Amino acid sequence: MQCRICGNSHDNRQYKAKEMMLGLGDEHLYFECSNCGCLQIADLPDNLADYYPDNYYSYKKNSHANPIKRWLTKLRDGYAVMGEHGLLGRLIHLASPEPKLSTLKPLKLKKSSKIMDVGCGAGNLLFSLKEIGFQHLLGIDPFNEADIHYENGLSIEKKSIQEATGKWDLIMFHHSFEHVFDQAEVLQKVHQLLDDNGQCLIRIPTVSSYAWMHYGLNWVQLDAPRHLFLHSVESMRQLAEKNGFALQQVIYDSNALQFWGSEQYQQNIPLRDKRSYAEGIKHSIFTKKDIKNFEKRAKELNAHEQGDQAAFYLRKI
Ligand SMILES: [Zn+2]
Repeated sequence: MQCRICGNSHDNRQYKAKEMMLGLGDEHLYFECSNCGCLQIADLPDNLADYYPDNYYSYKKNSHANPIKRWLTKLRDGYAVMGEHGLLGRLIHLASPEPKLSTLKPLKLKKSSKIMDVGCGAGNLLFSLKEIGFQHLLGIDPFNEADIHYENGLSIEKKSIQEATGKWDLIMFHHSFEHVFDQAEVLQKVHQLLDDNGQCLIRIPTVSSYAWMHYGLNWVQLDAPRHLFLHSVESMRQLAEKNGFALQQVIYDSNALQFWGSEQYQQNIPLRDKRSYAEGIKHSIFTKKDIKNFEKRAKELNAHEQGDQAAFYLRKI
């Protein structure tokens, strides 16, 4: 089997990975490239849509009914993205952090930056950016039911990146790029859509991690067959450089899921099971203390560049 990232076909190790999120248990063939380290699905399943249930997490829509909560959220998010609102923003962020927004801080954005979010589902992240004053935002997702128009002016269009137009300062993928089969073609399209010196942020799970080494096929973010590519840092570097980008920075941002999700899979508990922590602590096999401990360990792994997901910062060259 030939690696779709670097072209190597020697000594690639094969794995049979089970569908575990829904608990279907059917097996899918993956292989790990001996050269660049990328773990990838052998063939694109033709019934992939069947593996995305209607209540798939990225489709949950925003609601900001409570005006006080909305105001506090704005203060926090302004701090997370731009460092605004000083101590107050910082305190709210400490009390109730929004890790997704914090990954935007290294991009040094301006409120006038033109930003596209690819595979954004309901567009929660863009909604937050709109709320704190960003003007030029667009979300796209071909798997949404229809276009979405929010009262604050934000629009999410039902389309693929190949149908996208315009020029952008930032194009970002928050846990959507691992669902993309034609990785190089999509990155080439990103290159074409970006302004000179534009940036691309890709947040994905990574095999350059403790969780893949330790849990193997029970690693929760392997997520067969939905995740088609599980990159290493090296395979992302090669993919970026082959398609006109420099990989400028990698920041690990994993969380407790890598522990509780993978430990559940070891015990044959699907993510969508009433015993799963995803459904609440009540019927879970974990205590609150366990979860706190997992959060602490995730932070330590991130600091040592061993967490199971990371933000890859690419710049167009
Ligand atoms: Zn490879």
